[in-house]
Amino acid sequence: MRILRVIGFALVIVLGAVALFLHWAEPDTAPSQMVFVGGDIVTMAEPLVVEAMWISDGRIERLGSADDVRAAAGSDAKVVDLAGATLMPGFIEPHTHPLATALLGSAIDVSGFKHDSRAEVMETLREAMDGFLPQPWVIAFGWDPLMVRDLDPPTLAELDELSPDKPFVILTQMMHEAFANSAALRESGITRDTADPPGASFGRDENGELTGAFLEVNAVNYLLRALPALPPALTELLLRWQLADYASGGFTTIGVLGAVGRAEDPIGLLRTLADDPQVPVRSVVYGLPGQIDIDSKPRGDHDARFELRGVKFWMDGSPYTGGAAFAEPYEDTDLTRERLHLPAGHMGPLNYELGAFTEELRRFHRAGYHVAVHTQGERAVQLVLDAAEPVLRAHPWDDHRHRLEHNALITTEQIQRAKALGFELSFFTDHIYYYGDRLPELVGSRVERYMPVGTAFREGHRATIHSDNPMTPIGPLRVMQTSMLRIPRKGGEPMAPSERLTVDQALRAMTTNAARQLGVEEHRGSLEPGKTADLVMLSRNPFDTAPEQFDDIEVLGTWIDGQPVDTRKASRPNLTLGLRALRQMATR
Ligand SMILES: [Zn+2]
Repeated sequence: MRILRVIGFALVIVLGAVALFLHWAEPDTAPSQMVFVGGDIVTMAEPLVVEAMWISDGRIERLGSADDVRAAAGSDAKVVDLAGATLMPGFIEPHTHPLATALLGSAIDVSGFKHDSRAEVMETLREAMDGFLPQPWVIAFGWDPLMVRDLDPPTLAELDELSPDKPFVILTQMMHEAFANSAALRESGITRDTADPPGASFGRDENGELTGAFLEVNAVNYLLRALPALPPALTELLLRWQLADYASGGFTTIGVLGAVGRAEDPIGLLRTLADDPQVPVRSVVYGLPGQIDIDSKPRGDHDARFELRGVKFWMDGSPYTGGAAFAEPYEDTDLTRERLHLPAGHMGPLNYELGAFTEELRRFHRAGYHVAVHTQGERAVQLVLDAAEPVLRAHPWDDHRHRLEHNALITTEQIQRAKALGFELSFFTDHIYYYGDRLPELVGSRVERYMPVGTAFREGHRATIHSDNPMTPIGPLRVMQTSMLRIPRKGGEPMAPSERLTVDQALRAMTTNAARQLGVEEHRGSLEPGKTADLVMLSRNPFDTAPEQFDDIEVLGTWIDGQPVDTRKASRPNLTLGLRALRQMATR
């Protein structure tokens, strides 16, 4: 009898704990009628700052003085006291790669954020290889010969010694280069006879033997395609966690510029996630050309958390591999010769001929897709604009929103021409923060016009700035700060100070302008009646903050459709997914 009582007692405790846990795992829900008061509400519209905002069923109903808004909302609305915090339109990241970041989360970190020498990087790799590595391929991410000054490329012998049997791949920080051991070369089916893909190459020694190096995106993709896919539920869980990281950073919408990352159907995966109203950020997706069924309409539902809106191309490569198609050669320095192994007078290649790219552009333009193109060097920008001119003349579309991405050395003349042709510009200003100290060794005095986002604003562009995560970490406040200061992480003078943004420009770049580039400005990007209540709460008003202090502003939370976003790893949908992933792994 006594034993039964003990069991009964234990059962009550266990059930109580389960109930408590489920209650905790359930997200908070906000009432459908709310009035925010007690802090600055920065609208990014007219007037810029108001005292109060009424939200009704996820939409902004009214903005103005506290008395006026409270009277209009009536006594049913719950009054939320901001207690001095600032409310703004949620930040919008115009260019990022969530799936790649999610899948790289489990890779060995060899980045320059954590290592100062080649010896340290090799030690990290050796230690990781000695540990327990259950995955079928071993991936390391973040190899960075710019941040780690003595980082010579790994030889095939070194890679094979580190991992004699298991496929092993090191990806560089900018993902434009990779190194594979012999097992990974075998699994991906690349032999000494495999032809180089356009704008890319497989490293070969003087005898034509593969060295294990993969130079530029089209070559790296060969390798990524060979990676075994994770169980679908695990990929979905990792992606949800990744989306929660964007939300923690203050984003409510992200632009996925090329759904890169190993999954059976990356766009389908993002679409599935978006059906769930608890997904932590909205995604506006630009697929790779091969991922898009051109006969289907690009438009999505603005209320949904997923829209397929465009297509992404790469016209050139990364400045840090020799891949940027600059108009003049790379500088001849120790960095370019000894670390990047570029011959004197090296020019980065273009991925397309003019005729071939014009046809690609025409196809997607006519089907109504926003076309976004990775362009770092002047020659890459030139080719895109040359291709666009006849297409736009033959098939006018006033508001096409085609985009040029990164734009390291776009010229003022090209910025003007892009404006005349209706192209949008997005800049990767984090280059200055993370690589500013090395840029003179790559482009010499051209640093004086590197990432010319100030010129873009002066020429009338509603330009944006991005972090291209996983290339650099999520951090909208740091990206804005860098765009205002243009001082590298390692210190020093501002780089091209005339290109610095004002506080207003930096905030517009991450709100109204980014909404415009993603084609969602009617619904998001500013706080105005009728727009969606997608919000970020900050510890202080950025308009009252010096650029030097921007990175100290804390993100206190985000809302989508007037509901608080749940960024916890152990939320109920994530727990369900985790269990499904375990089941899938067990039945493999
Ligand atoms: Zn990118």
